[in-house]
Amino acid sequence: KSSFLDTCCGSMAEPRRRNLPGTPQGEIFKWKSSDFKADGHYSVQEWIQDKIRSDPTDIKAICKPPEHVHKHEWIYEHIRQIIIELNALVVSLQASCTGSSCPKMTAGEGFEFLSACYGAQPQMVSAVDYACHNIDFHVAIINKTKNFPRPNHDALGKKAMKELSDVAKRLYRIIAHAYFHHKEEFMGFEFATGLYKRFAHLNETYKLTSFTPAIKVN
Ligand SMILES: [Zn+2]
Ligand SMILES: [Zn+2]
Repeated sequence: KSSFLDTCCGSMAEPRRRNLPGTPQGEIFKWKSSDFKADGHYSVQEWIQDKIRSDPTDIKAICKPPEHVHKHEWIYEHIRQIIIELNALVVSLQASCTGSSCPKMTAGEGFEFLSACYGAQPQMVSAVDYACHNIDFHVAIINKTKNFPRPNHDALGKKAMKELSDVAKRLYRIIAHAYFHHKEEFMGFEFATGLYKRFAHLNETYKLTSFTPAIKVN
């Protein structure tokens, strides 16, 4: 567990990995892909994680919902997974993205974002603080069972879908910051996870939001 996350952000979303007790170290995260069962509590998430693990570059396979999974559940579970990986991205930036290197949450020239997480007035905070609190804030939103019951196999309400769009829009800024200001770390992370390409593909497919400012990753 990263001390960075402990000190900066307390309890954030932890990757939910299912390993049987007694699993040898080398086998951890390598459990066999199981058949998908729509009634299991974390089954859609496990499905997504299995696909990512088998080939993070196969965006189409990862983003194609299994049969009988409602589009809203699919989008929701993907966003949960994206948040888990955004946590990891923030951790990977900890050496280069500090309060002094990035005192503001910027994304290239002309884009500055204020944090809405410090009460009524939006505030200018460092990029790393913005990222951490942005993640915490949106984890809390998507964990509200009133709007997002889980497991849920049906359509979500209008308000919930609007919140998901908003979550996507704001979370994207962390990626944009990493891309514009920590390119090398970002590209290494992207190469390993395909996070941005997957997020962009989902965003385009389901018309969630507009990614601002846009980035270009080959
Ligand atoms: Zn924090
Ligand atoms: Zn930074």
